[in-house]
Amino acid sequence: MVDEPTAGELRRFVLEAQPLRGQWVRLGSAWRDLRACRSYPPVVASLLGEAATAAVLLAATLKFEGTLTLQIAGSGRVRLLVAQCTDQFQLRAVANHDLAATEAVGFSELVGAGRLVVTVQSEQTSANYQGIVPLEGENLAACLERYFESSEQLPTRLLLAADGERAGGMLLQKLPSATVGGEGSGALLQQAWEELRAGLDSLSPEQLLAAAAEDSLRRVFGAHDCRLFGPTAVRFACRCSNARVASLVKSLGVEEARAALASEGALTVTCEFCGRDYRYDAVDIAQLFAADGVVQPPPSGYN
Ligand SMILES: [Zn+2]
Repeated sequence: MVDEPTAGELRRFVLEAQPLRGQWVRLGSAWRDLRACRSYPPVVASLLGEAATAAVLLAATLKFEGTLTLQIAGSGRVRLLVAQCTDQFQLRAVANHDLAATEAVGFSELVGAGRLVVTVQSEQTSANYQGIVPLEGENLAACLERYFESSEQLPTRLLLAADGERAGGMLLQKLPSATVGGEGSGALLQQAWEELRAGLDSLSPEQLLAAAAEDSLRRVFGAHDCRLFGPTAVRFACRCSNARVASLVKSLGVEEARAALASEGALTVTCEFCGRDYRYDAVDIAQLFAADGVVQPPPSGYN
């Protein structure tokens, strides 16, 4: 039986004797709520679930207040996929694709040639960080391992899985060994790393999606002494708001807003992530641009 008390949870772990650390994540209703915003063919939903899980795992490796964005932009059937996770583990994700509902294609055809971009936007400063790797490898986890190798120079092993109900994953990282002194510590560390990697590889997607964190860690760590930290909640939450959409409408310009009013009677902006509609009628548009110093005549038929 699957134990699923929360929308989603993240568990951090460390090895007591070696500079190895990692995270385990399981998404339940957080993933179902996210997925319910749009209808996706199963292969696209799987990729989206893996990307959402990866965004949580990546956000957990960083010390920051802000947002981590994972973006897949390639020439394949999924044109663009964006998964975002904040430091508070609020998660959202969306994919644009041209697959029919029952179509099934492999990872390379799904993403095509292109890039995987990881962006960290800080809430406190304007300093953003961006890492880019080519979309190569047999799956998203393999792509991300390359990202860690090239951007952070940390050997990293990553497993990701998703089905219609759940998404889950695990990340294992080898920290710089300079912090551990003593003769032979490098060899011991390498041995522990190899053992843990092999243990991680023995985890099936079913285990990632259903087994308790304790059970999966026991399987990966074997005789090694591992400390598992308490859960951090992860939930689906969109960051769209009236203020953000209003500034988007302003950036369109008054002419375009008026053109939409003339042809549709209202300007409607739909959030790509959560599907929420923001509707602006003639009065709203007049107020929006008047507040910005643009003088508008009152719309006809309104007093
Ligand atoms: Zn939204």
